[in-house]
Amino acid sequence: MSTARRPLIAGNWKMHKTVAEARQLANALRAKVAAGGPEVVVCPPATALFAVAEELKGSAIAWGGQNMDWHAKGAFTGEIAPGMLTDLGCTFVIVGHSERRTLFGETDEAVCQKAEAALANGLTPIICVGETLEQREAALTDNVVIVQVQRALHGWTAEQVAKVVFAYEPVWAIGTGKTCESQEADRVCGLIRDTLARLADQATADGVRILYGGSVKPETIAEQMAKPHVDGALVGGACLEADSFAAIANYQAVAR
Ligand code: PEP
Repeated sequence: MSTARRPLIAGNWKMHKTVAEARQLANALRAKVAAGGPEVVVCPPATALFAVAEELKGSAIAWGGQNMDWHAKGAFTGEIAPGMLTDLGCTFVIVGHSERRTLFGETDEAVCQKAEAALANGLTPIICVGETLEQREAALTDNVVIVQVQRALHGWTAEQVAKVVFAYEPVWAIGTGKTCESQEADRVCGLIRDTLARLADQATADGVRILYGGSVKPETIAEQMAKPHVDGALVGGACLEADSFAAIANYQAVAR
């Protein structure tokens, strides 16, 4: 295990917050998130990105998109180009969130194209993978996760692989209050790392940050972060309030 991986705590605001509410939350986070801890990124809805960028400029908190198209520009009504995110100062973008996959038909191939376009534009893609409850109950977790990782990085070089972040998000744990046991989350994150090692090489895989996501709370973060393959968290519900997200970002690191 590499000890060089800096923990990353990411907040996905989903379809929440008006511009005024987003400004307020960003400001509160600026005040409450301690400096010198994990890297922290918030992903507001696109409508609030400009305002959040204004509030967080010069702070230690980064901001990113929740989704994007892979084309540079053109007739793609409703979509956002990678360059539009970087224009707003984004440094991250979530790709392949399970809600995009299940509600909006995003395929593994689209995830691959989006992640590649993100990298080409200097954005770090946070690529989400994870099994549904039915797949877990059918003992398909490992297969589903491995195939999602392989397809997301299809045809990539080791240099490209080195620049991504993965998030293991079991779909049954998202927004349900059911957290995946930390031991199991660590096992699947380790499986993702093994897959990366096969696609690229071990040194590259050891440098990639792999987050856990699924009902992360202030009470669960320290235990999850103590696991060797878990390098951070992708947080949904608990990132909508400054106190709970700051408590997660300010978790007390314990040796792992
Ligand atoms: C998510 O949507 O990525 C997520 C992890 O949500 P929650 O924390 O609410 O389960």
